[in-house]
Amino acid sequence: MKPPDCLGVVGKCTDCENPVLEYLCNQSLLEVRPESKNFDYWFSCSNILCKNHSGGGSYGYYYDDWVELK
Ligand SMILES: [Zn+2]
Repeated sequence: MKPPDCLGVVGKCTDCENPVLEYLCNQSLLEVRPESKNFDYWFSCSNILCKNHSGGGSYGYYYDDWVELK
């Protein structure tokens, strides 16, 4: 299976200060995050122990409060 396409760092997590990564919502991502289905982008905290690791969906301009944009 191809890994999800990472677009890079969008900012940092306000809970743990780790980088928040953004991914393109495509088939590879859908296999690991079925809830990304209706979004264009998916962002998640890179710290697997963080509560924000599961992340959230975006259309490229909206991010959850825990993302401090760079
Ligand atoms: Zn975090």
